[in-house]
Amino acid sequence: MSPFDPASVLARRATRSDESAIIRMSQKARDLKARGQDVVMLTIGEPDFNTPHHIQAAAREAMRAGFTHYSPVAGLPELRNAIARKLQEENGLPYEANQIVVANGAKQAIADALFALLDPGDEVILLSPFWVSYETTVTLAGGVPVILHASVDKDFKVPAERIARAISDRTKLIIVNSPCNPTGAVWTLSELEALAEVVAPHERLMVLSDEIYEYIAFDCEPRSFGSLAGMVDRTITVNGFSKSFAMTGWRLGYAAAPAPIAQAMARMQSAVTAGANSFVQRAGIVALTESRDCVEEMRQQYRRRRDIVAKALGGISDLRLAPIPATFYAFPDVGAFLGRTSGNHAIDSVDTLCDWLLEEHGVATVSGTAFGDKQCLRISFAVSESDLTKGLGRLAAGLATLT
Ligand code: PLP
Repeated sequence: MSPFDPASVLARRATRSDESAIIRMSQKARDLKARGQDVVMLTIGEPDFNTPHHIQAAAREAMRAGFTHYSPVAGLPELRNAIARKLQEENGLPYEANQIVVANGAKQAIADALFALLDPGDEVILLSPFWVSYETTVTLAGGVPVILHASVDKDFKVPAERIARAISDRTKLIIVNSPCNPTGAVWTLSELEALAEVVAPHERLMVLSDEIYEYIAFDCEPRSFGSLAGMVDRTITVNGFSKSFAMTGWRLGYAAAPAPIAQAMARMQSAVTAGANSFVQRAGIVALTESRDCVEEMRQQYRRRRDIVAKALGGISDLRLAPIPATFYAFPDVGAFLGRTSGNHAIDSVDTLCDWLLEEHGVATVSGTAFGDKQCLRISFAVSESDLTKGLGRLAAGLATLT
């Protein structure tokens, strides 16, 4: 008898690999660094700032005050109220506090929504390039991803008419992520209105609007899809504290949805993790209701870095770049370099290009394939200006050797 193989008992869903290219590249870069190689990491999808002090202090104070017990599954009432107020005042979204579900990160809020909405075979329209977790979680929830792709020529935005053509009688949900990870693209009001017109006549169709990068915007004011006429009942708005308040490790996010959907989402969450951490939620209240100077300071730094990235990448011939109105990512199209060689290195794909840039030029980026795109790579500018300048210099120097 052959020895027992524990992997043989895994469910099919657990054998599909979700080891994202982001994690793979970051790990590879760290391994090279550990071996003494000088590597600049432009892979990281989180703020390089620490959480502002007054938010940290609020968590310590909350622990001292006894917020160390289970929280209600959908969140502490004070936080749900603060979120409802924020959505009303800043986003024009008329959700009541009982329509808010606080989760362990926006990621869980998205999973709650997908598990609450999808029956096996229900279709979800995903607009690529996209944050790849959408596809993984849709599949885990039994849904079928229907992926529509837009390239750099369209500023990475899929027009509403194409979305309209992809809707079938199984389509339950469209996921919109504006500002977008990985492209930095932001939907204009008229683009959102065109989508609302497409959605309106389909009575079973919802939109999940992931607005987690809303505060990291430079030349634009991102709009909430749910604030459009008639759309609040058709929208699940997702947001969180990770990016705007530099709170990735705290795991705090939320969703707002029509009451029956919010209740179903809370039931899903109750089955898996219950409520988010109590003292973290108290800190979330402070983040939302006290001074936002810290958010503005971080935004200004990202804006300076965005300018550095746009200038450096703009100077590389054959590389194509869409505007970066928001987020801390650039997503240049490097398709023109694929098929070229440097010495005995043949660059046959964007994955190979990223590996080669890391190994031969000491700059770690993430291949676009991690986001459903085979022509682009992602550069994170959530790093210091000196690292950014160094990394971009290496990228330009590396690409210049390809013929
Ligand atoms: N949505 C997008 C587009 C993201 O990029 C991320 C994190 O990278 C998340 C959601 C999840 O954020 P959280 O840390 O709140 O789970």
